[in-house]
Amino acid sequence: MTAQILDGKAIAAGIRNTVKQQVEKLVQCGTTPGLAVVLVGDNPASQVYVRMKEKACDSVGIRSTKHLLPANATQSDLDTLIERLNADPQVHGILVQLPLPAGLDTYQVMRLIDPKKDIDGFHPDNVGRLCTGEGDGFIPCTPAGIMELIRQTQRPLTGAKAVVIGRSNIVGKPIAMLLLQANATVKICHSRSADLAAECQSADVLVSAVGRPGLVRGDWIKPGAIVIDVGTSRTADGSLAGDVCFDEAVKVAGFITPVPGGVGPMTIAMLLANTVIAAERS
Ligand code: NAP
Repeated sequence: MTAQILDGKAIAAGIRNTVKQQVEKLVQCGTTPGLAVVLVGDNPASQVYVRMKEKACDSVGIRSTKHLLPANATQSDLDTLIERLNADPQVHGILVQLPLPAGLDTYQVMRLIDPKKDIDGFHPDNVGRLCTGEGDGFIPCTPAGIMELIRQTQRPLTGAKAVVIGRSNIVGKPIAMLLLQANATVKICHSRSADLAAECQSADVLVSAVGRPGLVRGDWIKPGAIVIDVGTSRTADGSLAGDVCFDEAVKVAGFITPVPGGVGPMTIAMLLANTVIAAERS
């Protein structure tokens, strides 16, 4: 058996096309959706991510503005910038590129962003709405993209066993919550979980969000399962690697995402989609 590849690039292209049309409609009505991207310091990976997001905005007609602060910026500098962006009517979405340099309080910054502009869905208000199932909050982009990839399989989630490896606030916890809302029976595993292999073997849907290349072996996968590989690690030769041993897993899984070209493009597409939602609601 060979798994069907969930082509995130192609699915994301479809979403971006829809977003482009929504942007055109908003512009006709006098609103150009605006995304403010805040980058503190000179982390090279963050700079690459910010460039990718700016390019994606340009491609659909979203006005992106970059706000750079030096690595030695104070909490007060950052807070002042966020307050200014909160008050700016041309800014519909605010994205603070993480991680922040040491000494800056990520939680404080997340709390300060206006929840209506929190297109990353990290403000406690939006996290709470996700947990309670209130539908009108912002869902973090990577988990939202993963749910879209799973939808593409047309497999029902009701009653399915889902295993999520990773319990971060940006991927593991929110995707577990979304799978639960979709009526899957969800287990969250992490670095202290016992017998990870056995947990994974029970999964109809396996989401790995760890950042350890090759962690998930082919014999950890239930035959026919949906396997979503969120992991993105830079290898010694500069290429990107997922958490899942793709060559092994593709022989066992029913559906699988590649790395690169799986979850990554979906994350950016959902960022654009969330920015349009913020502009529509403004
Ligand atoms: P994170 O905050 O570092 O969380 C990693 C999680 O993996 C933690 O919960 C950790 O457990 C768990 N873990 C570590 N080693 C483990 C092991 N040996 N067995 C089981 N669990 C283990 O990372 P993150 O921000 O969620 O990101 C995870 C990965 O996804 C990274 O590679 C990141 O680059 C990638 N990512 C990709 C996208 C995308 O768009 N493609 C977006 C976001 C993240 P503990 O909690 O016990 O420490």
